Order: sequence, then structure tokens, then C-alpha cells
Amino acid sequence: MSQSSAAPLSGSPAVEIPTVPLAQLAPWALFAALIGSVVVYFAGADAALHEWVHDARHLLGYPCH
Ligand SMILES: [Zn+2]
Repeated sequence: MSQSSAAPLSGSPAVEIPTVPLAQLAPWALFAALIGSVVVYFAGADAALHEWVHDARHLLGYPCH
């Protein structure tokens, strides 16, 4: 092999990292927190519903576990 695989660093363009101001980020953080809370709420409600149905299943004599 006659060519080197490493690119020269002097000719590469500078990489700009975008920054987001906190004032623009705050509504989205609040929205994400709200969606997360809704997901946690419905996961808990589903677990409670499953528990009630599970007890009823045992009450009816259905073998489930
Ligand atoms: Zn059971």
C-alpha cells in the first residue's frame, strides 16, 4: 500500500457545534416531562387494571398461574 488512510488535519474544515438557548429548550423539556408523566400514569393504570382482572379471574376459578 502506497497511500496513507489518515486525512491531513490542516485542510479539514472546523466543526461547529450548534447551541440551543435555554429559553427555546425549556418548553420542549416541559413537554417531554409531561409526556413522560402521562406514560408513567397509563402504565400504572394498566398494572392496576390487570391486578383487578387477575383477582376476578381467580375468583371465577380460571387457572392462570
Ligand atoms: Zn393468577
